[in-house]
Amino acid sequence: MSLKDQILSRIRADGPISVASYMNDCLLHPTLGYYATRDPLGAKGDFITAPEISQMFGELIGLSLAQAWMDQGSPAPFTLAELGPGRGTLMADLLRATRAVPGFHAAAHIALVERSLPLRQLQATALADHDPSWHEDVDALPDQPLFLIANEFFDALPVRQFVRAGPHWRERRVGAPDGDLMIGLTDPAPYSALDHRLNDTKDGDLVEICPAATPAITALAQRIGTYGGAALIIDYGDWRSLGDTLQALRAHKAADILSTPGDADLTAHVDFEALATVANAAGCAHSRLTTQGVFLERLGITARAQRLASVATGEAQQNLITAHRRLTHPTEMGNLFKTLGLYPKTATPPPGLEP
Ligand code: SAH
Repeated sequence: MSLKDQILSRIRADGPISVASYMNDCLLHPTLGYYATRDPLGAKGDFITAPEISQMFGELIGLSLAQAWMDQGSPAPFTLAELGPGRGTLMADLLRATRAVPGFHAAAHIALVERSLPLRQLQATALADHDPSWHEDVDALPDQPLFLIANEFFDALPVRQFVRAGPHWRERRVGAPDGDLMIGLTDPAPYSALDHRLNDTKDGDLVEICPAATPAITALAQRIGTYGGAALIIDYGDWRSLGDTLQALRAHKAADILSTPGDADLTAHVDFEALATVANAAGCAHSRLTTQGVFLERLGITARAQRLASVATGEAQQNLITAHRRLTHPTEMGNLFKTLGLYPKTATPPPGLEP
């Protein structure tokens, strides 16, 4: 039975499901889900990410995390973790760039939080020299200092969507009134988790919440707050989200979110304020939300690109110039993507995220 038929029969039996529940099935169904069945990245896949555009991305993140580690007294041992590592490219670039940092590799245990089996296999190949461990959830990471990167991880976590109706909210749900998947709305009801959004929204506005982000941020912020460490969270989104940001992507083109369950990537913008609030409650300080362009420029991406270009020729040289532009330019990824840093209340923000 196709994933769409399975979702339809579930809806016929139990009624409409939340957008989050639909997204969860589409992405993570154990045999038919999007991430269970493929490597979605790269030119032949559905989308491309910063580490797949250029090695410079992972290298600069490595330098930021390694400097943060030194600034906190080089704690050993520690966990060097990545959430949703894709093909393992970012971690491989990070590790290559930090080889010369005294004691960093010797003290690091590499931990990868990943649900996709095909991607776990690619990560095992990319990181064969580093003996990583894999985990289903952030909660399974060891209790010790934690230095962590999450690039385009939180946008893959399912969101619930609510439409403002006076002082109440109507939730968008996926149903099948005429036999095919369709979005509908619940009756208006109060929803205390959205009380703070009554101040900055009007009738008809749509807001999103990401329930799965809360346990993930809590687990990592508790470790960083208690044992030291830092997290760099990079994603597209903003401080406090507003509007419908759920999108489907197939072969690098926008697709209908309901038409091909399990065969299109589904993402939603990240509400960074929500992440920062949860992190604070769990004992961490957070940086200002910084655009990816500014973050990478502060870490020296221009000098790095010039250096790499000086020893490259022809197409390789042209690719470096294009990559630098794609990662940093305001009209490309530079402004759309943001970086949030989490760190102990007694520490300074990781390099690149200074106030
Ligand atoms: N960070 C990589 C890949 C981004 S794609 C890059 O920048 O190239 C999203 C990644 O998150 C994939 O590795 C996917 O398998 C993983 N992922 C998505 N939802 C997840 C979940 N709930 N738990 C663990 N990993 C998840």
